[in-house]
Amino acid sequence: MTLGEKISRYMDAGFPAIYLHTFEEDKADDMIYSIAGGRKVLEYSIVKGLRGVKNTTLNFANTENLVQALKILLTNRDDLRRTILVLKDAHFWLENPEVIALLKYLLQRITLGLECNVVIISPILKIPKELESYMTILTLDYMKQPEIRELIENFCAEQQLEPMPDDLLNELSLTFKGLSEFEIINILGLALAQEGTINRANLDIVFEQKQQVIKKSGILEMIPLKESLEDIGGLENLKKWLKRKSKIFRNVDKATAYGVDIPKGVLIAGMPGCGKSLNAKATAKLFNVPLLRLDMGRLMGKYVGESEANMRKAIALADAISPCVLWIDEMEKAFAGIGNAGGSGEVVTRLFGTFLTWLQEKDSLTFVVATANNIIGVPAELFRKGRFDEIFFVDFPKPEERKKIFEIHIRKRRKDDLAKIDVKKLVDLTEGYSGADIEGVVRDSVEDAFVNDKTSVTTDDIVKAIKNTHSLSEIMADKLKEMQDSYKQRKFKSASE
Ligand code: ADP
Repeated sequence: MTLGEKISRYMDAGFPAIYLHTFEEDKADDMIYSIAGGRKVLEYSIVKGLRGVKNTTLNFANTENLVQALKILLTNRDDLRRTILVLKDAHFWLENPEVIALLKYLLQRITLGLECNVVIISPILKIPKELESYMTILTLDYMKQPEIRELIENFCAEQQLEPMPDDLLNELSLTFKGLSEFEIINILGLALAQEGTINRANLDIVFEQKQQVIKKSGILEMIPLKESLEDIGGLENLKKWLKRKSKIFRNVDKATAYGVDIPKGVLIAGMPGCGKSLNAKATAKLFNVPLLRLDMGRLMGKYVGESEANMRKAIALADAISPCVLWIDEMEKAFAGIGNAGGSGEVVTRLFGTFLTWLQEKDSLTFVVATANNIIGVPAELFRKGRFDEIFFVDFPKPEERKKIFEIHIRKRRKDDLAKIDVKKLVDLTEGYSGADIEGVVRDSVEDAFVNDKTSVTTDDIVKAIKNTHSLSEIMADKLKEMQDSYKQRKFKSASE
């Protein structure tokens, strides 16, 4: 169903107000005009005040103030009959008590039979509690790849550029997924201004700009891909599993034709500093798709309905950008307080519900990598079959894994010193160290050697750094023991071999 059809249905079913959450006013206008039928369309904006824009020539002087505009409409209710009332810039007014009261009054009249519908078009979602029960929140659909292709082709034609080779057009349209028409045109314009043409060299600009746009959405962040599986020491079971899924993800058409299910995602839980985030990042590189990080902290908005709308927006954006990896970092933090009675507890519970339903039902190529340090208190529903394809537990690295982690980090900084370093000795001294602890030890010893004008880093330098370090498992022994027990009890698959 298109968004226009959806809006029509809501209107026909007597829903008094629709909150269209979008930046794209023009597109929203077109859609409303197309579904208006014989109804009048009245529009309010701060600049133009209240005026008729379709099927009417009504014009209202001195209505730049929304309080004024609503008062006039409510005293001449005939003007509202068979009308769609479009409110733009309304978010600036939605903290004004008079506006809230007048709107509430109007919406009540509509529920009682006044033949009118209100559509609020706004890039910012702000619904006062008093109006919440009257509003239905909708967002504009994202463009599909063929539509984006067409948009780019039209842009090139308008700018009198040569038609683009097919593979570039494909790549560009894929990169643009998740952006609005307005944003795409802007980025194309910028690329053209900088390079004088649109070619492969522009892909970087496009990517950079897309990163910006996604960041502005406030909830998702696009992370550049640096780390790969080779940067991870140990965790062989998890890596093997990811490689297997990547074969499906990279050949998804063939795989689904064969009858294979599309991979949904993985939950990686376990000890802090042991490579969970590293795996999330490496997965995107392995799958050869963009990596989006969901910032759960920012998801929680202060207005009613905002958190859920943010969650839906993040999910819709990720689905629009797909194929992609959606990384949900420190998942346990987001869902803390679930099940608690009252305000924030309820919001979190609903948020969790929205997320679980999506996870269960999604059929897009959005592969979720959720990472969590502490699962004590995370509701058991999350671990049920059908949510994630698999749940892995990451423990402190075993000796063989510590060896690999030492080698990775020494090689990264002091490649030539590695052969002379007794890694076995370091491994024996670092029982209970996390990957992050080991990296810290290597970093400190390299810095120390440099400051002391040494020509190379030796085993002794690193041993000294180990002796100066307190590993996390030492510092947080009790807490970690409790966490470890909870993982064992749940019988998650071990990420290590
Ligand atoms: P967390 O499990 O808390 O998400 P991270 O993956 O962020 O931990 O690890 C922090 C840093 O520690 C990484 O950037 C990396 O440098 C180092 N590290 C942790 N685990 C490993 C590992 N298994 N192999 C190599 N480096 C590791």
